[in-house]
Amino acid sequence: MNGEDVPSCVACDCDLIVEYILIECKDFVGARQRYYNAENLQQLFQEISVTYVFDFLHEIGLFYRTLVLFVQDYM
Ligand SMILES: [Zn+2]
Repeated sequence: MNGEDVPSCVACDCDLIVEYILIECKDFVGARQRYYNAENLQQLFQEISVTYVFDFLHEIGLFYRTLVLFVQDYM
């Protein structure tokens, strides 16, 4: 992450970085709980099928954005 132009979430004003989208952002709690329950990224990737994560991201409309962020941050 280089800090430039990070979009923030309308609901709770958090930065829309991968960990907030997948774990923390309160705006997505309802959708998230229908697909998985994880307390941090490590648990998510260890215990949750990536299929559920992708379905969640599609539902909230952030699939491609999160994918781009993920590649930037973790690849
Ligand atoms: Zn948020």
